[in-house]
Amino acid sequence: MPRLASVAVPVPHLDLLTYGVPAEFPTPHAGARVLVPLGTRTVTGCVAAVQSVPREPATSGALRDILDLLDDGPYLPEDIVKLALWVSDYYACAPGEAVAAAAPPMAWIESRRVVTVTPDGQRRLEADDLGDLPPLQAAGLRVLAAGKSLPVSTFRSRLAAKLGRPGTAPGGWALRALERAGLVNVSQLLGGQRMAYRTTRVAELTPQGQVVAAALRDGASVEGLGPRQREALRALAAAPDGLPTSDMRDRRLGVDGLHRLALRGLLTVRRQTVERDPFAGPWGRDVGGVERAGVPTLTPQQELGIDRLVNLLGEGRFRVALLHGVTGSGKTEVYLRLAAWTREHGRQALILVPEIALTPVMAALFRGRFGPRVAIQHSGLSDGERHDQWQRIRQGAVDVVVGTRSAVFAPVTRLGLIVIDEEHDGSYKQDDTPRYNGRDVAIVRARDAGALAVLGSATPSLESFHHARAGRYELVSLDRRVCDRPLARVSTVDMRQEFAEMGPGVVLSRPMVDGIRTRIGQGEQVLLLLNRRGLSTAVFCRQCGGTVECPNCDVSLVVHGRGTAVCHYCNYGRRVPRDCPTCGGSYLEQMGFGTERVEAEVRTVFPDARVGRLDRDAVRRRGAMTEVLARFAKGDLDVLVGTQMIAKGHDFPRVTLVGVISADVGLGLADFRAAERTFQLLTQVVGRAGRGDRPGEAVVQTLYPDHYSIRHACSQDYGAFVEEELRYRRAMRYPPIVALVNAIVRGPSFGAAMASARHLVEHIGRAMPRPGEFQVLGPAPAPLARLRGEHRAQFFLKGRPSARTHMRRAVLAAIAAHPELRRRVSVDIDPISVL
Ligand code: ADP
Ligand code: ZN
Repeated sequence: MPRLASVAVPVPHLDLLTYGVPAEFPTPHAGARVLVPLGTRTVTGCVAAVQSVPREPATSGALRDILDLLDDGPYLPEDIVKLALWVSDYYACAPGEAVAAAAPPMAWIESRRVVTVTPDGQRRLEADDLGDLPPLQAAGLRVLAAGKSLPVSTFRSRLAAKLGRPGTAPGGWALRALERAGLVNVSQLLGGQRMAYRTTRVAELTPQGQVVAAALRDGASVEGLGPRQREALRALAAAPDGLPTSDMRDRRLGVDGLHRLALRGLLTVRRQTVERDPFAGPWGRDVGGVERAGVPTLTPQQELGIDRLVNLLGEGRFRVALLHGVTGSGKTEVYLRLAAWTREHGRQALILVPEIALTPVMAALFRGRFGPRVAIQHSGLSDGERHDQWQRIRQGAVDVVVGTRSAVFAPVTRLGLIVIDEEHDGSYKQDDTPRYNGRDVAIVRARDAGALAVLGSATPSLESFHHARAGRYELVSLDRRVCDRPLARVSTVDMRQEFAEMGPGVVLSRPMVDGIRTRIGQGEQVLLLLNRRGLSTAVFCRQCGGTVECPNCDVSLVVHGRGTAVCHYCNYGRRVPRDCPTCGGSYLEQMGFGTERVEAEVRTVFPDARVGRLDRDAVRRRGAMTEVLARFAKGDLDVLVGTQMIAKGHDFPRVTLVGVISADVGLGLADFRAAERTFQLLTQVVGRAGRGDRPGEAVVQTLYPDHYSIRHACSQDYGAFVEEELRYRRAMRYPPIVALVNAIVRGPSFGAAMASARHLVEHIGRAMPRPGEFQVLGPAPAPLARLRGEHRAQFFLKGRPSARTHMRRAVLAAIAAHPELRRRVSVDIDPISVL
């Protein structure tokens, strides 16, 4: 019976593609990689499913066959393929894009591989003893009869020629069978810049090479060998175990020289895999400040919470629990105990954290408790490190995986527990295709695996709180800090008054300066938060009122050190102009300020203080972030200035003062989550104070001391905040009360973008399955009406959560009806922000 495989190819906008499985292949596993023809190209894809059909479908004229099978088994575990397909369906992206997001880096790159006949294979060839081999393998071995090594891609096309097929042949699959039979060697070698494995490469003489080396030793002359190549052969003849290729390079025989010898069949290069250990690098450096060795005695609240959660684990089926614990209540200890229970019961745990900066600490804690069977996965690792960690997980060598968003796809096979720490955090949502929310994907994964998902936060998202209140999630609360430490005392400084009395340029108010002085004087530490980077946030002309804007985006440039002005969206940069680019006037003034300016200000007011800064500019260099955090944790810094990066998760026991330079940064934004974000950020950062023996305090500078999100954050009253916020969401019909879909339409001009958006909106209106089931709002200019040189319009779909599927289908159907717009529309399901 013909077999059809549906294959996900990593190409935007392409659905699953159907290919025939040639009769010579075994049935491919879901999750195996295959080479397939696509137009005139050959691409690597991933098998989603295979089915047998009684006869070829009627469209068989167009049906093309799989060209090669790259894996005997599933490369991606089957449940990960299934999860990726769910992501593709729910978040409206191409299946191949979702599969690529779930796979490790370099999964789709066939590194340069070379095939050589073994002495055994050579003997069989010489004796023409290939009768027992299937025709494909026999033909393959004959291709290699000349005794030379070939790159696998060349081998594929020669095999095709030998078989009289056009183009290419399933060489990889044939080779794996021949390799298992001991007839060929396939080595990954020579000049692969982006090697999938870290390897030391060892060169060895082939039997033919040994003959040539012996001839050389006896003084025979061999054609076409340079002096360095001859020297290399002699050296190899004296080294029965081979020589590392780096040694050969020391003998001034480069990659090319080796490659030529290999292609003449005189040597092979074997690779020895060396696992790259990210814990040895900057990510594993001791970040200090955390007591790792001791296992603390649980507080009564922790004990109660763990009991309830372990009961859920014991049920061994899908459950979701919301662990609402105030800052410093010891949530991490709860995760550790749950993971330990999970491991003792033969299952694995996945621990997700929102920020790369938090993985080293979390991973170190787990390593301290669990030993080396802990892996990490995040985008700050090099491709190679990530790949190696992925392989360890794939081989079942770990019990716990700690990582950021993409670790939700880690290939563990016995999943029992997923922890999503700081579940409310916006970084769980990917802001590129596929626009998935790692927390929500984690819940789906837990469902499929029959696992427990624990969402932890001091400030749960309104979505999760809503589910918990409706009884869909089990609610576990920790409302007291460990060791009965008090929450920080918070005071607000009304900056309107401060500006009136001290002038408009004030960065640090008087109470803030006093607080910092006192704390530093007592040898304690200070965290200063401002969620905005740079020196000043705009350059403004006093003559014409113009600002210096990005030529590509609808925003002002931000001034950074050394007189540069930078766009925070597209990275465009220029020198700060001396004269106004609009009117030529010379009255340019800088307004607003960011973290760089705060750092400078602190240095001016406290020349003896040791000051560090943590924001995206300060940590561009790999490892810089852990370095700053480690210095602060060790007490080598008195003051740390930073963006939201300093607010999350960290546990610095010596911090007794947290200063918020401006609580209002996010409040003015036209986003329905503005208040929620502000509340969360303030609560989190205030929660960094007083986590050691000494009680902490926080000073919050604001222009709106009466705004409810600032008021409730200062009294650290989550309950009061959500009540008020839910009333607003209900009144305005925003999530979690409704489901939201956002579509951004780009165009060469604003008019074109709006016109295209209007086409889509009209199509959706006409095709609505049940009128009134959901609303279509817009189109309207997007808040960032121009970005990276493109004009942007947007529209929304709003409806009851149960209508989400119909809303998604309606948008996709509209796009399908306007294929010319496909590349210009981005659809965002459950947007985390509508800016
Ligand atoms: P959260 O994530 O809830 O803000 P953490 O998990 O970071 O809090 O814990 C805060 C601090 O309390 C950490 O230093 C942790 O080691 C410590 N801790 C946790 N549980 C206990 C306990 N039962 N007894 C003493 N210290 C604890
Ligand atoms: Zn720009």
